[in-house]
Amino acid sequence: KFITFEGGEGSGKSTHTQLLAERLRACGLDVVLTREPGGSPGAEIIRHIILSGIAKPLGTETETILFAAARDDHVNATILPALLAGKWVVCDRFIDSTRVYQGALGKVDMKLIRGLERVTVGEAMPDLTILIDVPANIGLARAKTRRGEGAADRFEAESVEFHENLRLAFLDVARQEPKRFAVIDGRPPRDVVAERVWAAVEQRLLG
Ligand code: C5P
Repeated sequence: KFITFEGGEGSGKSTHTQLLAERLRACGLDVVLTREPGGSPGAEIIRHIILSGIAKPLGTETETILFAAARDDHVNATILPALLAGKWVVCDRFIDSTRVYQGALGKVDMKLIRGLERVTVGEAMPDLTILIDVPANIGLARAKTRRGEGAADRFEAESVEFHENLRLAFLDVARQEPKRFAVIDGRPPRDVVAERVWAAVEQRLLG
């Protein structure tokens, strides 16, 4: 089974990706924990090219195509082999981040994005996508606390309005595929959110 997590900056999705992987392993399942952009040696190099800023300025379409190249390698090198071996794959971000960041916010043509999805993902669509939803001001505050003196997240300097649009775009993408998505309120304490994530997995995939 293939599970992806999505959400804005500071939503807690990376924490919950890890917690879910641990819980599935505790059930005796063979789990591959991975992330995007990245998740395979080639894709991690592409992640670095885009996020480090060494190749700045890159246009949004160039970025979209580079993210797609990274995804293609990630699917072929990491995700598909694991799924074919009967393992569970839990991935921090996937196609919906592209639909939201590059599509809804970056204004890249959705036809290009869907076309690249077909080429890169093919049949390896997630069985379940968990969207951790938090209001923009909460996510931003958490992202700032978390980083301390470290480097800022890519969109941390953007306005609350930008982050609220990001949130609405994720909710919109989720509404289009209610069977694939479970939207979980990310505001309660971590353990409460983790229980709700687990309940969604049990109900949709283990039940
Ligand atoms: O999830 P993570 O923090 O590792 O993502 C790294 C950065 O890449 C984030 O700032 C995220 O917003 C950005 N990103 C993006 N487009 C994607 C996926 C991630 O701009 N398709």
